Amino acid sequence: MKEVIIIGSGISGMACAVRCAELGVHATLVSPFPSERSQSVMASGGINAVTDEAEPGDSVESHIEDTLMGGCGIGGQQAVAGLCRSGGEIIRYLEKIGTVFSVDASGKPARRAFGGQSHKRTYYCGASTGKQIVSALVMETRRYEAAGLVSRRLWCCFHSALIHEGVCHGALLFDETTGQLEMVYGDALVMASGGQNALFGKTTGSTQCDGYAAGRLFMQGAELKNLEFIQYHPTTLETPQKRMLVSEAVRGEGGRLFYEEDGKRVYFMEDRYGPKGNLMTRDVVSREIDAAGRAVFLDISFLDRREIDDRLPEVRDLCAKYGGIDVYRDPIPVQPSVHFFMGGLAVHLNHETNIRNLFAIGECASMYHGANRLGGNSLLAAVYSGNIAAAEIADRAGVSGHPDFDMELERERKALAGRRDTQSQFPVMYIRDMLAETMQKRLGIVRNEDNLKQGLEDIEYYLSIAERLNYDPSVMPYFNYSLTGILTLARATVSCALSRRESRGAHDRSDFPKTEEAYRSATIISYDSGNYSVRLDRGRSYES
Ligand SMILES: Cc1cc2nc3c(=O)[nH]c(=O)nc-3n(C[C@H](O)[C@H](O)[C@H](O)COP(=O)(O)OP(=O)(O)OC[C@H]3O[C@@H](n4cnc5c(N)ncnc54)[C@H](O)[C@@H]3O)c2cc1C
Repeated sequence: MKEVIIIGSGISGMACAVRCAELGVHATLVSPFPSERSQSVMASGGINAVTDEAEPGDSVESHIEDTLMGGCGIGGQQAVAGLCRSGGEIIRYLEKIGTVFSVDASGKPARRAFGGQSHKRTYYCGASTGKQIVSALVMETRRYEAAGLVSRRLWCCFHSALIHEGVCHGALLFDETTGQLEMVYGDALVMASGGQNALFGKTTGSTQCDGYAAGRLFMQGAELKNLEFIQYHPTTLETPQKRMLVSEAVRGEGGRLFYEEDGKRVYFMEDRYGPKGNLMTRDVVSREIDAAGRAVFLDISFLDRREIDDRLPEVRDLCAKYGGIDVYRDPIPVQPSVHFFMGGLAVHLNHETNIRNLFAIGECASMYHGANRLGGNSLLAAVYSGNIAAAEIADRAGVSGHPDFDMELERERKALAGRRDTQSQFPVMYIRDMLAETMQKRLGIVRNEDNLKQGLEDIEYYLSIAERLNYDPSVMPYFNYSLTGILTLARATVSCALSRRESRGAHDRSDFPKTEEAYRSATIISYDSGNYSVRLDRGRSYES
């Protein structure tokens, strides 16, 4: 039986494992924590789809058009068309495996308006869309675990891929329970390791998503794409631990953004963009809040109390719990925060990277969202990309034999043991914190050359000391060995941002404020022995 190793057990990883099992391919799901703790459970707003019950006037074509427009001209047309066409089938499938979508007064599936979309097409499950989908997929994977078609490797982290002559044969995993590296072979390796929130410290997302896997694979020859496009969600609530997401559903239900001037409320989004101003795409709203340069608030106090209780209970509760805010009466103070990564591992339409048998799916892959993602499209992309990769792997002939990677395993074991003896004035976690500060400061909503160059200098300094840092036994061994991969990804991200000398979507350059036709392509970055090369994918080599 063919074997696929899937790194990451959020929605994309599980969707891929289940589809592999359905197609008779055995899948091993690897993750340091259970699926129920993946970032996917945090998704609350909803999932986009045009189904048979679509709003009058809505169509798959319109969903495709909105997605491409939102992506500011650099989302792959064929890929986006495939994604949007799959929406109806994916909603039916999710319902079939136990996802309970909210219904309206007539008992039909309810949909809400989300930013940048011409119709109400975001399906949701109360305030817990991600949790519902994760739970349904967990049950589905369990069925296949019982049938011997899915296995789980819990408390295991990805270390590196086993690559020989441009072909991937498996991975080295670090088992946190034994403290040992081990080798696993497969016919394919699928990365489903999520975004890179931890690079930025405090964000709306999970610190499990630190981008190490993408950084390490980059160092092993995998190309990365569009790293400069980092989505700032416009409405988050500041708390000591993280930025809590105030869902776009609030503006979908009529929430209004304003600031105060001379004692009066200025509804700046409506003044500038008309009645639908609050629901402009996230890049636009974040930029406007940033440009306002003062405290901005989101108001839903004019809504009927029952409407808030029925449709936005999670927002009501999180505002009360983390901000002491009574949303029935008071506006919510909001600020933009890092939320989602349009960039990641570059993949072809079948979700294979430039390395044969190495695939990437979900948020760690860059494919559908161009320069800016529409809310509700990433849950769809997580399921869809998992299905696409599984179908491709099932279709292919299995690998007939694997080369011997014993020397590589021994070398990495020695390197890990060597790390335990290093001495320096800086602990590992200190440099991680410094990196987060650098990324927040240098890759904000608005960037410029001087600022980015300073970021590059800082990261190069961290890289120069990374391998000599004190081993910190108080944190998971993973944190000790992952730093160089994370820093390399950070270095690549800043390089991409420097190279794009225009403003487009989520990449706003104060020194190059115009959108330039010459840059209407994806950015691709590759790595060779410490050298980073960035190019524009003018030939659209990843769109086939
Ligand atoms: C607060 C919040 C709300 C959101 N709401 C919505 C929404 O309403 N609609 C929408 O479409 N999108 C939403 N998103 C985005 C969406 O949730 C994610 O893009 C999507 O769930 C990503 O799924 P994934 O499977 O790719 O990754 P994840 O769910 O992030 O899973 C990643 C997996 O990889 C594992 N992993 C990471 N590193 C390693 C490693 N080195 N070794 C082994 N395993 C590793 C993790 O433990 C985890 O199991 C939201 C995001 C956030 C943060």
